[in-house]
Amino acid sequence: MRVMSQPSNSSDVLEQLLKVQLLDLDLDKLKFDEASIPGELAATRDERALLLSKLESTKAEHAAVRRQVSAAELELRDLSAKRERSKVDQQNSSSVKEQSQYASVILQLDTRIEDLENDSLPLIEKMEGLAARVAGLEGNLSELEPKLLGLESLDDDRIKALQASFEGKMAVRNDLAEDIDFNVLREYNAVRKAKKGAGIVPIVMGKCGGCKMQLPMNIVQRVMGGAVPVKCPSCGRILTPRN
Ligand SMILES: [Zn+2]
Repeated sequence: MRVMSQPSNSSDVLEQLLKVQLLDLDLDKLKFDEASIPGELAATRDERALLLSKLESTKAEHAAVRRQVSAAELELRDLSAKRERSKVDQQNSSSVKEQSQYASVILQLDTRIEDLENDSLPLIEKMEGLAARVAGLEGNLSELEPKLLGLESLDDDRIKALQASFEGKMAVRNDLAEDIDFNVLREYNAVRKAKKGAGIVPIVMGKCGGCKMQLPMNIVQRVMGGAVPVKCPSCGRILTPRN
């Protein structure tokens, strides 16, 4: 087991730990950058999502109106067939009374057919308008596609470069960390995980460089005396006499 209280040794450990920390902070930054989507890509993705959502609702609206138009067409065919049958029946009838009854039925059917045709017209116009909007939205989407593909491909390259840089730095970091006492490194990793950011901080004017708490004199003395690891009683970060 290594004796950590010897000044020359502890000074080396803290120096090594500070180097590891510099790399760890770089690695944090690389992870942060990787997760930050560039503004233009985010905006273009949003634009596409909005177009898709509009397209979906317009298609649904178009389908609903088309069903109404189809129902009206079906009814129109039915009424027209009835009218044709009544006309044939009227011609075949020898009774004047019957002929007059058929004429009345035909007149009623004429009125219903005319009303239905009048009601259908705005529906057909609405359906055509919706079909044009669907085509327009589909056009907008296909215009957007090459731009989005280009931006996605740029972003893939960006992320790959960040990941390569991350892996290179991580290898250097792990090499450096191998020389550090296991318990010191474990304390450092634990506090970095808990607090994010720095795991080892300098004492600045008797205060912890991490949480800014005034440190008890005996803690400062132990750090100055070369004890490792000495942790801030408030935040748990490892203390070093210097930056
Ligand atoms: Zn602290």
